[in-house]
Formats: sequence, structure tokens, C-alpha cells
Amino acid sequence: MHLRYSYRVYPTVGQRSALARTFGCARVVYNDALAMRKEARKGGLPHPRATDVQKQVITAAKKTAERAWLASVGVDPLIQSLRDLDTAYRNFFDSVSGKRQGRKVGLPRFKSKRDTRQSLRFTRNGFRIRGNGKLNLAKIGDVRVKWSRALPAEPTSVTVVLESSGRYYASFVVDVEPEILPRLDAEVGIDLGLTTYAVLSDGSVIDNPRFLRKAEKKLKAVQRELSRKAKGSKNRAKASRKVAKAHAKVADTRMDWLHKKTTSIIRETQAVYLEDLNVRGLSRGRLAKSVHDAGWSTFRRLLEEKAARYGRTVGIVNRAFPSSQLCSECGHRDGPKPLAIREWACTACGVVHDRDLNAARNILAAGQADRLNAPGGPVRPGVAIPLQAQPDERGTRLSDLTGTGGRTAGAGGAPALQGGVDVNLCPPCHGPCGGSRRCPWRR
Ligand SMILES: [Zn+2]
Repeated sequence: MHLRYSYRVYPTVGQRSALARTFGCARVVYNDALAMRKEARKGGLPHPRATDVQKQVITAAKKTAERAWLASVGVDPLIQSLRDLDTAYRNFFDSVSGKRQGRKVGLPRFKSKRDTRQSLRFTRNGFRIRGNGKLNLAKIGDVRVKWSRALPAEPTSVTVVLESSGRYYASFVVDVEPEILPRLDAEVGIDLGLTTYAVLSDGSVIDNPRFLRKAEKKLKAVQRELSRKAKGSKNRAKASRKVAKAHAKVADTRMDWLHKKTTSIIRETQAVYLEDLNVRGLSRGRLAKSVHDAGWSTFRRLLEEKAARYGRTVGIVNRAFPSSQLCSECGHRDGPKPLAIREWACTACGVVHDRDLNAARNILAAGQADRLNAPGGPVRPGVAIPLQAQPDERGTRLSDLTGTGGRTAGAGGAPALQGGVDVNLCPPCHGPCGGSRRCPWRR
């Protein structure tokens, strides 16, 4: 399986300008190729072949007066830039034909000089790791790397990224064998929310850290500073880098936290079951900021990646599954309840439930049932076959495998307003839909 390992790199002033030049060239080549393909499409001509495109926008272009500067940078990142365009087109065509699932993918767009994030990919011939630990990039030089952990194997490619905060990263793709952990009996269902981040079916609770909310004051201050600077001035560029840095800090803290939590869950359980949350639908509402701050998609993605790597299972329960209406003791469907109710007694068996814990137990049961019945398809209407996690190229950063993560015990009632977040949310979607017709979960 492919994993990504990222390290901070510190290019010198000269290397930074060489990188900037290469970022620019890669962008121009990409845009030229895109223009060429658009032209062919407009003229009703067949999609040009990749080799022909490369010949025209790199090899031939270098010989012209207006593109002669393309020769001053390494050719490898330029070719990789064209590969990215081909991938973008392939995704578009697959999406149109239905071969690719999920959200529709649009046509590739032109890259702008003002894009905040810049990146370059070097393949095997374009980079080398020196004996002294420096990263040699073709036509850039030996760049200093902070090796925060060891690479597990020889990398196949490296992407150099410049973030809007001004930080440089080298992200290596490494091919590694999965490390199957010893089997466990423990399986867990997870109910995600905003009041508490997650309630697990074993009764443990993960509090919502609300990193963005906590940093809001600081973010506001730097944003205000930015708004007062004259457009196009150097001070404005400085202030905008400050804003990007503040945001990057929040994102880093959140990512680190998510890694620790997901690692400890994957280490301690054989199978994890989650609800399929409609994050996209929620992130447009009144709670957009809180939903974004929670990072549910990343939480799920990290669980799936780590499960694939360590031989565990992640099951996704269909979002139509009424996890908060069923009694986890007797299976009686009690119907929807007012949103403020955190605890309720089953009308059939009388057991008193904590809403989230009951939901987590239902998710566990539904996930296990789906898993057992997976070959034959869903047993109940509205319950999907759990997705088996697939090895993914995107990164797992397992710097903290030994960390246990701080799971604290104790669920229970919650105030109606906590940390500025309204907890009177729709039970199925945890959203502000009021549990009514508009709920994105009820479709
Ligand atoms: Zn009951």
C-alpha cells in the first residue's frame, strides 16, 4: 500500500527562487496543455495524445522565444504537471460516464499565479536523498529536511509543497506492506456529534476540542490587521501570511488530535462502525464552522486508512438508519423525540437511555448485522453494506502509535447551549434542520 510521509523542508533563498521559477513553469505548461485540449475539443478534434501534448508544450515550446525560459528548470516536474492534467481529465470523463462514483467532477480549470498553495512533483529520476540527509532536487539543489521520523522504505516520488503560510514541505510516497495487528474481540459503534465529539458504544466519551472556536479571538485579530492594509502592499502580503499561519496552526493541532484519537481507536478495536454523515450538506448551514472544526470527514478517512494498514475493519452504516429512534435493549422503535431530550425511557421495556450512547450501540448492532450479511446485501431497508476500508495513497501519519489518547468516561445530560453551539440538533443528522422535512438525512 502507498503511504505519504511529510517533512518540513527549509530551502535557502536561492533554492526558494529556483522553486518559485519551477512552480511558475509547471503552471504555464499545465495551462498551455489545457488550452490545447480545450482548442481540440472546440474544433471537434479527438482528445490529443499525452505524448503529443508533451512534445508541443514542453519540447517544442522551449525552442520558441516566448517560452525559452522553460529550459531553465528541470523537466521532470513539468512532465508531472501534465500527468496531473491527464488525471484531472480522466476523473472528469469517468465521472461523466458513471465509472467514477461520488460527487460529479468538473472539467479541469486554469491555474492562477495567485493560487495560495503551490506544489511540484519529482519522480525517481528527479530527486535523491543524500548521505548527509539533504534532499537533492534536480536543478534546485540540496535542500535541508527536518526528518521528524524515519522513512520506512525507499520513496517512489516526492511532492514539494509551498503553503500559503510560507512553509515548505516534502511529501514522499512510500510503498509499504500492511502490518496486521493481532486480532481483538472488541468492536465499537461511534455516534459523532458536536456537543461531545463522539460517544462510543462501550460508554467512553470523546470531548469536542473545538480548536477553531478556541483560536477565534486570535484569528479575528490577525484578520482585522489584514483588512486594514492597503491592497497590493508589502504589509498586506505580510499580514495575509500571518492569517494563513494562524489558520495553519489550528489545522495542525486538529490533525494531531485526530491522529491520536483514530490511532488509539484502531489499536484497541477490531471493527469500528460509523454513521455515514452528510458533512457536505451540513457544512452549508448555521453550524458550518462547528462542522468544519470537527473534521468528521478526516476522522473517518484516518480510521479507514489505519484500518487498511493494520488489518482492522471500518463499517459505515447508512445515514437513513434511525440510530436514535431504536431502543438498543429491545429493538422497539420509539419514534423521533424532541431534540433537547438527552435521555429517554423506552416505552416497551422501560430501560432509560442516554441518547448518544443508545445511538452508538444501535450503530454497532447495525454495522455488525451488515457485516455478517454483507454477501447477500442489506437485510433491512435503508441499511447499507459497510464499506471495507481500502488502502489509500493519502497519508497516515502514525507518529504517535503508542499514545493511548485521552478517552474520558461519563456521558449524560448537556446544557442547551455549550460553547456557543446549539445542541438542539436533529438526531439523525446532528444538524440544524430541526428534525423536519428539510433534514438531509431523511431523503
Ligand atoms: Zn426497549
